[in-house]
Amino acid sequence: MRLSNKVALITGAGSGIGREAALLFAKEGAKVVVVDINSVAGQETVSLIKAAGGEAAFTANDVSKAAEARAMIEFAEKIFGKLNVLFNNAGIFPDADGSVLETDEEVWDLVMNVNLKGVFFGCKFGIPALLRAGGGSIINTASFVALMGAATSQIAYTASKGGVLAMTREMAVEFARQNIRLNAICPGPVETPLLAQLLSDPARRQRRMVHIPMGRLARATEVAQAALFLASDESAYVNGATFTVDGGITAAYVTPE
Ligand code: NAD
Repeated sequence: MRLSNKVALITGAGSGIGREAALLFAKEGAKVVVVDINSVAGQETVSLIKAAGGEAAFTANDVSKAAEARAMIEFAEKIFGKLNVLFNNAGIFPDADGSVLETDEEVWDLVMNVNLKGVFFGCKFGIPALLRAGGGSIINTASFVALMGAATSQIAYTASKGGVLAMTREMAVEFARQNIRLNAICPGPVETPLLAQLLSDPARRQRRMVHIPMGRLARATEVAQAALFLASDESAYVNGATFTVDGGITAAYVTPE
């Protein structure tokens, strides 16, 4: 198994990519700490893991609050004795996030607090725990929009993901000699509840689809597989990477018909 003897904490593990990663990491032998602001969803993920014979525990925490982010790390060390893998995956994409001209300051702050400050807190409190465990792997979820503009405006989201990517690189350099690796996953559009609202509009869906060489959205499991690789020792020399899982979006100049 690829994550035997490892303890992995995954934020936003009640849905989408986070849930798939939690199921996969547990299947590969990790003890998984499921973190989500939504208790029902988080507990459901734990039940699914246990039903499949895995080991997991849930803690309800809001990653955008310092005390709660600290508490989730303490929970991991208390319940499972250590922390080896931290997947800062929780993120939001509110409807009201649009053009720079129309997006309100409150929406900007909300998105930044969860998507960017949440990753900052995860690393701030998680890195000392990884150091106590002798090192480990941190995976931060950015997005392909950190590398290019989004076809449908979402100014706060795009800015937050650019920040996640830049911050990941800086920490990857700082902790490289202390046996901690940090990498950012940049998924393309994934078929999850986060995008459901946006993609329920056929015109907006088509506007997105035009840019995807593979002609389809990603599945959450496909992003989880990338996270598994980065979490495991198979990626021992991968550090500070911008790990695109985008079906070729960022490589495309012209998309085939
Ligand atoms: P999702 O909406 O399916 O799941 C996100 C989970 O995070 C939910 O269970 C939610 O309750 C939880 N969450 C939200 N705010 C939280 C908070 N403050 N504290 C703790 N938990 C919180 O989303 P997803 O599509 O699986 O997205 C996961 C990550 O991938 C996000 O960072 C997202 O920005 C990123 N991403 C998604 C896509 C996509 O197209 N879906 C593309 C690129 C990147």
